[in-house]
Amino acid sequence: MAFARNDFQHKLSKQLIDENQAVIVETLKVKNMLKNHCLAKSIADAGWHSLITKLDYKAKQAGKHLVNIDQWFASSKTCSCCGRKQESMLLNIRSWTCECGYVADRDINAAINIKHQASSIKVY
Ligand SMILES: [Zn+2]
Repeated sequence: MAFARNDFQHKLSKQLIDENQAVIVETLKVKNMLKNHCLAKSIADAGWHSLITKLDYKAKQAGKHLVNIDQWFASSKTCSCCGRKQESMLLNIRSWTCECGYVADRDINAAINIKHQASSIKVY
C-alpha cells in the first residue's frame, strides 16, 4: 500500500511539473482535519505532505514554480464569480448557488479561487 502510493505520487508529481509552468497548492489544515474522525483516515492515507515534498523538489529541478496558498484563504466558501463569501459551508455540500446566480461546484469553484489568488502572488 505504501509502495503503491509512493509510486503514484512520483508519477503524479512528475506529470504535474512536466505539464505546467507553475503548480499551485493549498496548504490544508491537516492537523485540524485529522481531529475529525470521519476525515482522518482518508487524509492520513492521502499522504498530502509527501506529495508536496515531491512536487517541491521536482519543480526546483525543472526550474518551475511551486506556489503555496495561505491556509486561511476561504477557497471553498468564496464565490469565484463575484467574490461574495458564504457564512458557513458544511463538508457534505458539493455544490451551491451564490446570490449572484453562479452555480458553484465546490471543488471547481475552490480551484478557480486558488488560481486567482496565485496569480496575485509574486513567484520567484
Ligand atoms: Zn457570486
